[in-house]
Amino acid sequence: MISNEIKNKLQAVVGPEYVLDAEIDCFGYSYDSSFIPLSPNNIPDLVVRPATTVQVAGVMALANNYGIPVTPRGTASGRTGGSIPLAGGISLSLERMANVVEFDEKNMMITVEAGMRTIDVYNFCAAKGLFYPPDPASWKYSTIGGNVGENAGGMRAVKYGVTSNYVMGLEVVLADGTILNTGGKAIKNVTGYNLTQLFTGSEGTLGIITKILMRLIPMPKARNTLQLMFPSIEGACDTIHQMLQSGVVPASAELMDKTSIQAVARHRKLDIDPAIEACVIIEIDGDDNEDLEKQAQQIAAIARRFEVKEVHIAGTLKESEEIWAIRRGLSSAIGAMAPNRFGEDISVPRDAFPAVVRQIRKISEKYKFTIAVYGHAGDGNIHPSVLCDMSKPEDAERIHHAIDEIFAAALAVGGTLSGEHGIGITKRSYLEKALGQAGVNTLKAIKQALDPKGILNPGKIWENKV
Ligand SMILES: Cc1cc2nc3c(=O)[nH]c(=O)nc-3n(C[C@H](O)[C@H](O)[C@H](O)COP(=O)(O)OP(=O)(O)OC[C@H]3O[C@@H](n4cnc5c(N)ncnc54)[C@H](O)[C@@H]3O)c2cc1C
Repeated sequence: MISNEIKNKLQAVVGPEYVLDAEIDCFGYSYDSSFIPLSPNNIPDLVVRPATTVQVAGVMALANNYGIPVTPRGTASGRTGGSIPLAGGISLSLERMANVVEFDEKNMMITVEAGMRTIDVYNFCAAKGLFYPPDPASWKYSTIGGNVGENAGGMRAVKYGVTSNYVMGLEVVLADGTILNTGGKAIKNVTGYNLTQLFTGSEGTLGIITKILMRLIPMPKARNTLQLMFPSIEGACDTIHQMLQSGVVPASAELMDKTSIQAVARHRKLDIDPAIEACVIIEIDGDDNEDLEKQAQQIAAIARRFEVKEVHIAGTLKESEEIWAIRRGLSSAIGAMAPNRFGEDISVPRDAFPAVVRQIRKISEKYKFTIAVYGHAGDGNIHPSVLCDMSKPEDAERIHHAIDEIFAAALAVGGTLSGEHGIGITKRSYLEKALGQAGVNTLKAIKQALDPKGILNPGKIWENKV
């Protein structure tokens, strides 16, 4: 419980209307887009909605003084429970901080506040002829602060990398309210430890990110989309490898297995050949239509070597958008297939992709769960979605074994627990297996140094107080 005295002090910092304590308001901040069930234990005592860095610093100084847990929150599209206030306390919403601070055309950089939506950052830059490439499928509603918090990826990671590849500097409010600036506009910078990258992907456990300086690149002049349908997963994966080795680097190369294709087909009333086992969606970009046509024909020729059944090269922007709508609608189509779903986010070396997909099929047969597999095949990031009904005791009993085996399959080939969704609550217990004791101890030392009272996002990454 937060006393009235502290509540009054918080109101003095951000304004009375931006401290919410009504039960219904607080309930709205108790869950995110992970698959973690609702719980009254996760309802924050207060929701605080600052509008400036100075206000964030004031809130943190009070929280630190009184030992109140603070859970930073963008728009709660996170998949691992990162913005769920497990320990009550304050849910700190960054949504009001959504402005462009500076657009620096000459240096091709932009500084934005953390609560700006990802798509608004993209659109702002695009209107100026520059390109901010990271495009998580959730970009219409995720915030850029949440993207930095999770080091979000997206479809275009194959060619353009992930959020951390664009973050040049940060303004961060530390646990005690100190305002820290990291990095800067200098392209080369080895002055001390790389704090910018340390905070990127730290899931709100080390500080509150308030401003982000990002580099931009020139907007590609032309883009097109291809949809390839294969009778085998292997053919699809081999096509992607061969394409990358041949020097054709697409912006995106997304793969869906048969279960995923059927989910979308049902959802969107599409008629898909039942012999199709894998669909690959590829985005290419380049200087002009001639360049795109050359790339498209090279990819089609490689796909034919691996027995592709259908090659569809979009002829218009509308056709491209229709193809991408299939991929962007996939998550909800799969979600509609069963009462519960556990979506994972393993990442493996690219050459291990088909073997791990095969292993996941075996896990599906062993535990009798439907597992839809899709992902960013071009960069080895697989999203297996295990479908189940947790109201059935036999499902609740077996689901964790199936998930353990999926993580084990990724780690066995040198992969990771998460490619882009982070550890949050859902993967905490696997951390030591993935990083080893020395790795875990090093991370703990960092957490202790930056958050000695353990008030920043308790229960995330770490199960117990560090
Ligand atoms: C349908 C769907 C598709 C998705 N597709 C992708 C995808 O393609 N790629 C991908 O990477 N992710 C994807 N995601 C996951 C999610 O959108 C990303 O993790 C996103 O970065 C979260 O942004 P958010 O603003 O919603 O953050 P939240 O969910 O609110 O927070 C995420 C984490 O960041 C912390 N955080 C938020 N803001 C700050 C801040 N200002 N300072 C410090 N910490 C902060 C939170 O405490 C939490 O730990 C998808 C999610 C959905 C629902």
